[in-house]
Amino acid sequence: MSTVNSANDPSASASRAAVPFLDLRAAYGELRGEMDAAVARVLESGWYLLGNELKQFEQHFAEYVGTTHAVGVANGLDALTLALRALGIGEGDEVLVPSNTYIATWLAVTQVGAVPVPVEPDPRTYNIDPARLADALTPKTRAIVPVHLYGQPADMTPITAFAAQHSLLVLEDAAQAHGARYNGQRTGSLGDAAAWSFYPTKNLGALGDGGAVTTRHPYVADKVSVLRNYGSRVKYLNEVQGVNSRLDEVHAAVLDVKLRVLDEWNARRAQQAERYASALESTPLVLPFVPGWAEPAWHLYVVRVHGDAAYRNHVQQQLTASGIGTMVHYPLPPHRQQAYASTGFPGDAFPIASAIAQSALSLPIGPHMTVADQERVIDALLASGVL
Ligand SMILES: *Cc1c(COP(=O)(O)O)cnc(C)c1O
Repeated sequence: MSTVNSANDPSASASRAAVPFLDLRAAYGELRGEMDAAVARVLESGWYLLGNELKQFEQHFAEYVGTTHAVGVANGLDALTLALRALGIGEGDEVLVPSNTYIATWLAVTQVGAVPVPVEPDPRTYNIDPARLADALTPKTRAIVPVHLYGQPADMTPITAFAAQHSLLVLEDAAQAHGARYNGQRTGSLGDAAAWSFYPTKNLGALGDGGAVTTRHPYVADKVSVLRNYGSRVKYLNEVQGVNSRLDEVHAAVLDVKLRVLDEWNARRAQQAERYASALESTPLVLPFVPGWAEPAWHLYVVRVHGDAAYRNHVQQQLTASGIGTMVHYPLPPHRQQAYASTGFPGDAFPIASAIAQSALSLPIGPHMTVADQERVIDALLASGVL
């Protein structure tokens, strides 16, 4: 990879500006006309909740995912929680979850009164290891929540086979995997239901919080749509103790615009992933492993250093000094969080999750990162002498 700071490079001065981890303003810039029109249409309509914008987006999103139902909710955590409730998971139930995930996956299980039972990931893919499910199974196990972490699809065939064998439900946490495919099939269409987040930085992001549940089961879609609106199907008649978790018309309208470019924007991410892979393959960095069945959404490009957290933090600081924005997903696995101290897991209970947390570093990736900026990231990494 060539450096980009030669005197006759017209982008040289611009390229010395910081390389952001992700540029959301540029995303708006590319779609400004359509997004402004969508927002204006909603403002002019005078109808701001549970209207036609939501209906349309739900229909388009279900079609995109390759399933029959989508129900918009207020955020990804609610999508997980309401999907679990709709699937009938609650008090006394155990749910198998990855030991290495964003804490929301665990929180949803806890929120419905069930117990998250951690399962270690495959150390190559970072996704829940199907071979370890059997060890975590008890008579109380009711469901599995595989997470398509970093946008890499989990190995769903053995997961759903195991679930079928033991009469378990499967809820995909697809919050990082909009558009990813597993053996040609979209994530979110592979289990009994899937939970999505439209948090602004996700591959399909709203202008604030948003989420959805997709499912092929009409009863699950129906339950979630009742639960999200105070447990009410008919105004002021409440069938169940629901919540207020609706996806606003403004967000639905904007998401519908962004859904149209999702595949194109994911393709840009895939190109960047390829560029990273070829530029960094001769370094000692551990690069993302892509199994034959996976077509990742490349939500994140996570590399791992050989060393402990102090060394990873050192590498990160060197990149920061070069103006490169990076992040760590995630510095502490859920079982080591104070929030789950009461579960009593020893710190070393899940060594694979802990090892990933210590060595992972997320490099900038996104539909608006320029080639020049990516070359700066690569050059900075190579210059850091990373081991
Ligand atoms: C973002 C995310 C969530 C939660 O989504 P919110 O919209 O922030 O509530 C859940 N699970 C995973 C894996 C996520 O990355």
